[in-house]
Amino acid sequence: MQNNVRSLQRAVLSKLFDHLQEYYGVDSRDYVVDSRLNLHQIDALLAFKSDPQLDELRAALDRLEHGTYGVCITCKRPISRDVLERDPGRCLCASCEQGFNHGATVGVAQGVLNIFGPHVGL
Ligand SMILES: [Zn+2]
Repeated sequence: MQNNVRSLQRAVLSKLFDHLQEYYGVDSRDYVVDSRLNLHQIDALLAFKSDPQLDELRAALDRLEHGTYGVCITCKRPISRDVLERDPGRCLCASCEQGFNHGATVGVAQGVLNIFGPHVGL
């Protein structure tokens, strides 16, 4: 896992950049993706952008930093690699996501709400 951190981080940053470009007209891909920005610089870049998708990707960078990336935040099981490739900001495994979408587990939803604040669309 450790060896992969940089490439995972790149995947997250790449997605983050796509979003910044699409919605905010940021067009310095190399700066965002390749220059090993630290989290403070990324925060500066994201300042005043209240955007759930950016928050999600920013949180993914945090998890990379803390070595908890790719682990489901509710059941702590690993999230499969192809899920992460499709959606690098993903923080729930497939089964938790499903339970979450079906509203099966109020406790889980509440936990996610506490982590991400009230803008998670429930
Ligand atoms: Zn899970």
